[in-house]
Amino acid sequence: MSTLTVLNPATEQPIAQLPQADMAETDAAVARAKVAFPAWRAVAPVDRSRLLRRLATLVEEHADELARIESQNVGKPIAGARAEVGMVANVFHFYAGAVEKHYGETIPVAGGIDMTFREPLGVVGLIVPWNFPLNISSWKLGPALACGNTVVLKPAELTPLSALRLAELALEAGIPEGVVNVLVGKGSVVGQRLVEHEDVAKIGFTGSTEVGREVMRGAANTIKRVTLELGGKSANVVFEDADLERAAAAAPYAVFDNAGQDCCARSRILVQRSVYDRFAELLIDATRGVRVGDPEDEQTEMGPLISAQHRESVASFVDGNVLFRGDAPTGAGFWFPCTLVEATNDDRIAREEVFGPVAALIPFEDEAEAIRVANDTPYGLSGSIWTKDVGRALRVSRALETGVLSVNSNSSVRHSTPFGGFRQSGFGRELGMHALEGYSEVKNVYVATDT
Ligand code: NDP
Repeated sequence: MSTLTVLNPATEQPIAQLPQADMAETDAAVARAKVAFPAWRAVAPVDRSRLLRRLATLVEEHADELARIESQNVGKPIAGARAEVGMVANVFHFYAGAVEKHYGETIPVAGGIDMTFREPLGVVGLIVPWNFPLNISSWKLGPALACGNTVVLKPAELTPLSALRLAELALEAGIPEGVVNVLVGKGSVVGQRLVEHEDVAKIGFTGSTEVGREVMRGAANTIKRVTLELGGKSANVVFEDADLERAAAAAPYAVFDNAGQDCCARSRILVQRSVYDRFAELLIDATRGVRVGDPEDEQTEMGPLISAQHRESVASFVDGNVLFRGDAPTGAGFWFPCTLVEATNDDRIAREEVFGPVAALIPFEDEAEAIRVANDTPYGLSGSIWTKDVGRALRVSRALETGVLSVNSNSSVRHSTPFGGFRQSGFGRELGMHALEGYSEVKNVYVATDT
């Protein structure tokens, strides 16, 4: 059996060695999940709810441990990692509450009674990336388990540790053996096998648009259900009537949070030309203030990138007009400084997802141009609009072709609201009640009463 060495990206030191699953082990995990399915779907909703509630509580009780694991494995600042664990607990609390609130309808028809049921899908495969391993695992596990599915979860090879610990907590919570299975292994082996496996009913995937295409192709043979959360190239649109100080103070955290390794990163900062110079000054000042360094330090706001290979990829984007380059540690660790670049929307840096702490500043003349440029991208995941004019905020919100928007805020993700993309950012929604649609089928039953 081959082994996997897991690194801390802030030190480049190994923190774990794990056996890697192969095809046979993937098949065995799917078989375990299939065996566990009938009993799990039959658990009374009130009891399934209690088990998820217990898992949420265990996550809270182990918050420090989980945050430390995530911080060491991903290079996340510890304070941010703790906040992410808080969200994980909230996600499980939410879906504990949702189990008994997700039900069918009765529909008026002639000659009988018509009703719908929400049925679980069966075994679902959950494929998760390395940037928010624990959070994204919970976004998929919560609704999948709430609907009565059993799961095989594949974390990214680079960051498997928190998912393994979460699976132990699920067992401790009393979720029966076989319901939650975690496989550590390569995407091209374990991931692909899950996608093609005839006993897997659905794939919930988060990752790159490129692999998302492969997942769609692979799922076609078995007509598998697929939801895809993919890349983004979102716009942060600052109008001349905005509170510029507030917009500039927030903008760095809309790109540099998680070292820019965030599908929601507002990495195109669109600024109305009349306030462009003033905003750029404020933005540079705010970016200078981002504290980059040791993830274990409570004050740190940005850690390293995930790997040497990824750092090379991020660096390849910075060849234009650099407005600002911040400081970053030297020596061990995959560090990269906060970087602001002046660009046009046709430049590579504005077209492709960098997935690092690099933002492109792009001027625009008026509202119509702002909308045109913001929408001129293959993606459509998130975005922000900064203005004091409510009419403009609503007009532009409706005009932007993106799944998640915030006005005068950077916020993208809440446990109770739908999250997902338009266009090549994917389809299907995570979080909130909407996610339950992706983990259940609607069954319609008609009962004749005129017999
Ligand atoms: P990848 O798409 O390479 O990987 C995502 C997951 O898919 C990993 O678990 C990976 O496994 C697995 N995988 C890789 N190849 C296959 C395959 N052929 N079949 C099935 N599964 C496979 O993305 P990264 O992990 O490199 O993450 C970065 C990218 O993900 C960025 O481009 C970003 O935009 C996107 N992303 C999108 C998010 C969203 O919510 N929209 C959130 C986070 C990231 P392994 O790595 O172990 O090989």
